[in-house]
Amino acid sequence: MSHTTLSEPPCRTTAPPWRGTSTLALHAGASRHHPYHSLTPPIIQTATYTFTDTADLVAFMEERMFMSKPLRQEYGRYGNPTVQAVEARLAALEGGDEAILVSSGMAAVTTTLLILLSAGDHLIMTGDCYHRTRTFVQRVLRRFGIACTVVPPGDLDAIAAHIGPRTRLILSETPTNPFLRCLDLEGLAAIARRHGVRTVIDSTFATPLNQRPLDFGIDLVIHSVTKYLAGHNDLMAGVIIGRGDLTVPLRESQSMFGAVVDPTTAFAIGRGLQTLGLRIERQNANGLAIARYLEGHPKVRRVWYPGLPSHPDHAVACRQMRGFGGVISFEIEGDGEAAARFIDALHLPHIAPSLGGVDSLIEQPALMSYYDTDPEVRLSLGIRDELIRFAVGIEDSEDLIADLEQALARV
Ligand SMILES: *Cc1c(COP(=O)(O)O)cnc(C)c1O
Repeated sequence: MSHTTLSEPPCRTTAPPWRGTSTLALHAGASRHHPYHSLTPPIIQTATYTFTDTADLVAFMEERMFMSKPLRQEYGRYGNPTVQAVEARLAALEGGDEAILVSSGMAAVTTTLLILLSAGDHLIMTGDCYHRTRTFVQRVLRRFGIACTVVPPGDLDAIAAHIGPRTRLILSETPTNPFLRCLDLEGLAAIARRHGVRTVIDSTFATPLNQRPLDFGIDLVIHSVTKYLAGHNDLMAGVIIGRGDLTVPLRESQSMFGAVVDPTTAFAIGRGLQTLGLRIERQNANGLAIARYLEGHPKVRRVWYPGLPSHPDHAVACRQMRGFGGVISFEIEGDGEAAARFIDALHLPHIAPSLGGVDSLIEQPALMSYYDTDPEVRLSLGIRDELIRFAVGIEDSEDLIADLEQALARV
């Protein structure tokens, strides 16, 4: 298998132990032989599966009693070959044994927390996280008697300080949203192992091309597949990936919770994954070029991008990431209205939530995910009106920079 040629972060010190992720994204888990000699995998669009006669049914039931993975399917909520092929590819990409595709990134978050936590347990999570994850923990899990401590993003010491006898789980994103804070994954795994606590990383912003948390000893990885993995802003899905026994109860939960992925959606995810290596390579390069350009512009006050030496977690990012991704946050000189004038003057990026697709998207977090948050709370989280989040796509960086240049000239 050939080594992929991703743009190397200039400061990388240790070589991550994986290779060939572009190849894996294309070939892992895929059967080379399909019906009618089709090169592409078929979409098995069915809700149920038939048995030839009663003896066939009884043979299947017997087999199911003794095998953890029966050789055939029975009913759509319990499994589908199109979905399973994509799951196998995602597991290989993250270096896990099992991947469970679910209907959205939030389904991955809520399923994981509901299955791994029980009444009386304590969860530690980091701030600067996906808004709905925090709302779920603070509104829903609290009702079931699960306590939560939110610590500052990227702060390993704060995590260690809050581990108590009831702590079962540590959940963090890295990089975070919107400040791209990075948590030391190896350090986190070591602390958690010492205390017998499980670790879950939402690695959506990184993708397995830029970071593989399981390699550092993390227990479970979550992605919003909606973002980079599918990559075209045209579907919703999520995934939970892990090793060994830990994924068994999560897999079982799927037949009860019912948050399954439709076969046609799974096919589109598989199609998106085929170009993951190329897309991430381009988005890493665009991200770094645009972050450097913005940092040097007199009308830009501050830039957050883990590939810049000015980012507080640059050293951590260099140790554990292979590229720094396509999301850049920055504040322009002036107020929220100046930021809006700048955004409205842009021609290429669409104004939209989300990230990770081929199209560049831009937004003011104060007017998007934090619109109905109390302004005092919002400011305490560092979300100022003039903060802009730019999720770069796969356009040519020269065109994106020319667009930014003309729009900045108009504020
Ligand atoms: C978008 C996102 C989610 C939620 O995923 P959906 O697919 O929108 O449900 C969770 N975590 C992160 C970091 C995200 O960016």
